[in-house]
Amino acid sequence: MSTTADNQFQQIISHAKEYGFVFPSSEIYDGLSAVYDYGPYGSELKKNIRDYWWKSMTQMHENIVGIDAAIFMHPTTWKASGHVDNFSDPMIDNKDSKKRYRVDHLIEQFADKLSESGKEEQAKEILHQMDALLAAENFQGLLELIQNNKIACSVSGTCNWTDIRQFNLMFDTKMGSVSDDADTIYLRPETAQGIFVNFLNVQKTARMKIPFGIAQTGKAFRNEIVARQFIFRMREFEQMEMQFFVRPGTQMKWYEYWKEERMKWHLSLGLPAEKYRFHNHVKLAHYADAALDIEFEFPFGFKEVEGIHSRTDYDLRRHQEFSKKKMQYFDADTDEQGKPYGNYIPYVVETSIGLDRMFLLVLSHAYQEEKLTKEDGSTDERVVLKIPPKIAPVKLAILPLTKKDGLPEIARALMDTCKPYFKCFYEEKDAIGKRYRRQDAIGTPFCVTIDHQTKEDNTVTIRHRDSMQQERVKLEDVKSIVMQAL
Ligand code: ATP
Repeated sequence: MSTTADNQFQQIISHAKEYGFVFPSSEIYDGLSAVYDYGPYGSELKKNIRDYWWKSMTQMHENIVGIDAAIFMHPTTWKASGHVDNFSDPMIDNKDSKKRYRVDHLIEQFADKLSESGKEEQAKEILHQMDALLAAENFQGLLELIQNNKIACSVSGTCNWTDIRQFNLMFDTKMGSVSDDADTIYLRPETAQGIFVNFLNVQKTARMKIPFGIAQTGKAFRNEIVARQFIFRMREFEQMEMQFFVRPGTQMKWYEYWKEERMKWHLSLGLPAEKYRFHNHVKLAHYADAALDIEFEFPFGFKEVEGIHSRTDYDLRRHQEFSKKKMQYFDADTDEQGKPYGNYIPYVVETSIGLDRMFLLVLSHAYQEEKLTKEDGSTDERVVLKIPPKIAPVKLAILPLTKKDGLPEIARALMDTCKPYFKCFYEEKDAIGKRYRRQDAIGTPFCVTIDHQTKEDNTVTIRHRDSMQQERVKLEDVKSIVMQAL
């Protein structure tokens, strides 16, 4: 990350804390690494993003239903899914600083530095070699790549590395009253398995016909070694996942469909297309026959925000094997030759997006420091969060110009009219300019000022956050103006 980008990112983190979006977890005890809490405006924004996703999946698609599965699952779930054996990242330790790194992150950081110093071709070549070595699980080759390029530890500055080892990312705990006898269970590292094990329950009770999807949002936990970049990589985070069950052989068609559909969702928030790109996976996970990431240009570069994976019938087949329960679907339809499809284990296309990462995407894109020139020629500055109105924490701030002359009463009446429909904020303290700035800082798209003229002609000033333009509108129209923008 360049110094300017780094500074800007630090500003965003401070802003998120100062204005009640994100706090370090248990901060009075100096925080807990890579764990964060959401404050009053943060929890609103997060909920709005979650709701927007949920609605797009379960309301706008008639063939998708939702579930809410438990975080704890039978431990065999994770043997069947492959997480006990395979959910690990290659790690390397520096013998001098004792600091542990994820191998791909160590090499990527090195490549970033090369690019920043103008050696882009060399950076590309190293990343290309890394991808090939990771795909072949050639750990010796990766170690040689690190050593040959003299990639050093950022703490000790030395290249004194251990061998590369796999490190499982699942958190475990004990369930049961006597800890010696208790079973080891895991905090789920993804929400998807809760969907797979409920596949038949959902299909039968909601009477779903293939192709259909099951959506879920909820917490997931990963013992990330390199947990940094604020809420980009957390140890406790939230996922929004949808598993789409299809006929075997049709998965590529649906993979393409969901790739486009999910990009449309991102763009429907008014986010710019040029900040997005697809990244096809070179190394496929053990369960996938195709996979890509939707990447966004964060302040620290293009990074994954969402994954689209064609997971074949791997998960259902494995659960069938381990549970000895049939995970099949009976398809009464017939093919072109009139032959019934009959019983089969469906294939799955998954869309998986991190809610916290989407939050960071929205926040970092919305954050702007603007220089303003006033009418008298003097200059001023403002920090504004240009959050899409649909998901802004507060939609309308209602501000009586003074605390007297009957203005608060009119403002309160407007508050009562609007608050059943969208989130409003009422404030009568401080100069109006200061109040506008505070609303800009939390991303409120509209402010309405009630002044003395309101008493005479029932009009108010409505101020638009992004343009800062103000217009006089009828008091009775305020609700519909805001509703229209949402
Ligand atoms: P990464 O390569 O960044 O570790 P991943 O490929 O392991 O991510 P998936 O397992 O595909 O991620 O998870 C789907 C989504 O969940 C990701 O696109 C991301 O948005 C989110 N996610 C995964 N791990 C984390 C984490 N530690 N903190 C926050 N969000 C995460």
